[in-house]
Amino acid sequence: MTTIGHFINGETCLEAHRTQQVFNPSTGTSENEVAIASKQTVEQAIAAAEAAFPAWRNTPVLKRARVMFKFKELLEKNADKICELIGSEHGKIVHDAAGELQRGIENVEYACGAPEFLKGEYSKNVGPNIDSWSEMQPLGVVAGITPFNFPVMVPLWMFPMAIVCGNTFVLKPSERDPSSTLFIAQLLKEAGLPDGVLNVVNGDKEAVDTLLYDPRVQAISFVGSTPIAEYIYTTATSQGKRCQALGGAKNHAIIMPDADIDNVVSSLLGAAFGSSGERCMALSVAVAVGDEIADQVIEKLKNEIQKLKFGHFSDKSNDFGAVITAQHKAKVIGYIDSAEQQGATIVVDGRQAAPEGYENGFYVGPTLIDQVRPDMVSYKEEIFGPVLQILRVNTMQEAMDLIDQHEYGNGTCIYTRDGEAARYFSDHIQVGMVGINIPLPVPVASHSFGGWKRSLFGDLHAYGPDGARFYTRRKTITQRWPSANIREGAQFSMPTLN
Ligand code: NAD
Repeated sequence: MTTIGHFINGETCLEAHRTQQVFNPSTGTSENEVAIASKQTVEQAIAAAEAAFPAWRNTPVLKRARVMFKFKELLEKNADKICELIGSEHGKIVHDAAGELQRGIENVEYACGAPEFLKGEYSKNVGPNIDSWSEMQPLGVVAGITPFNFPVMVPLWMFPMAIVCGNTFVLKPSERDPSSTLFIAQLLKEAGLPDGVLNVVNGDKEAVDTLLYDPRVQAISFVGSTPIAEYIYTTATSQGKRCQALGGAKNHAIIMPDADIDNVVSSLLGAAFGSSGERCMALSVAVAVGDEIADQVIEKLKNEIQKLKFGHFSDKSNDFGAVITAQHKAKVIGYIDSAEQQGATIVVDGRQAAPEGYENGFYVGPTLIDQVRPDMVSYKEEIFGPVLQILRVNTMQEAMDLIDQHEYGNGTCIYTRDGEAARYFSDHIQVGMVGINIPLPVPVASHSFGGWKRSLFGDLHAYGPDGARFYTRRKTITQRWPSANIREGAQFSMPTLN
């Protein structure tokens, strides 16, 4: 059994207050355990970050960006190893892991532009001989807490931007698949990052609570499930910290009667079952406007789903892999059972899935459920598995009302050929990320990522321009160098130009 440790002040640290098993979901076996950090270990990481801050803050932004250029190269050079680490602990197939890594690298590329986006704003002569400018200054020590489903991409949403802005960072990845995250943190040291600027602690609630309550931590970025996101946001803000906490999702696609059915079917397959549905942007609900299109889509989907292949993460012919743990598999199956008990029709049933040779892996086969109603538990809650549910309505407005009334508002998509309908939908729908004939509208790195309603607690979205705002605070300086022969007397009214 190998113990996966922490990365503090540029060194691996094996302090194991407690340990937890890490599984290979493809086989259901476990050869590793992860060290669960104590409060003291997390405090050590915070102290290292605090000590590294003054020098890093004063390092010219071009030099900070150069570390990111080198980091991007190292991520690309080590791509195969990173994807193998992701697959062996997460279960997602290697070409899906390569997509995750690539979307993460794009955030590093964006961070390389810091000399441009941190320039600030300048106004000359705002008053007589007075100039004014605004700077974006780093916050200090900031922390990130990340979920299991993107062990590389979501950390890369956070620390490259925070660090290039001059902050130092403590990252608490998911304890369920920590190795790929730890490995990329070590690559950043190889890229030239000074010790202490990025620290990684593995752990659970004890580690998270230490970050939330320690006054040296200025800001918290969180991505995970909604109940924990809400807890993180309320606790961090009660401690006076800046916080962005991204939560869960239930992403609906509206299928209009005029939609291109082949496009709908092929893109729904990938968006619902890719990564075993363990994506916060997975399309898990399709709302068909009219029975005719519903029947046509279901007929085609049924045939295509039977052809999907799932199994071991390293087999490139697979379409998706296992889910994260045996407990999660049981939870997903429980949702399918409850839909059946509440009267839905199971069109394709993945509950008995067991790929040959990997019978102990944590597999759920692709599942299609029709005749789902809004009062069903499987509709109200996030399933986070390879399950697509179909609801039937009569009008587009009914479909939009369903989406707007749902607790979550992360992503959504409309399939249509009607530009007017698409424009109305994107303008009015109460969701943060909208696709028009695009099933997974995950914003590129130069835009920012975030949902509405209970999918995001906080004001600023993740990465892109909002990321730069989140990890900096504005300081505005107004300056005059009075010349020796101009002296004003005391002024007691509010200074104006009049
Ligand atoms: P999770 O909420 O269980 O865990 C996320 C992080 O919080 C982990 O690091 C975990 O160790 C920590 N944590 C768990 N319980 C805690 C507690 N009681 N107190 C303090 N910290 C705790 O989420 P997960 O299962 O790892 O990830 C899946 C969830 O993340 C899904 O709900 C998914 O929709 C969501 N997600 C959202 C986005 C987004 O951008 N909105 C992106 C990816 C995943």
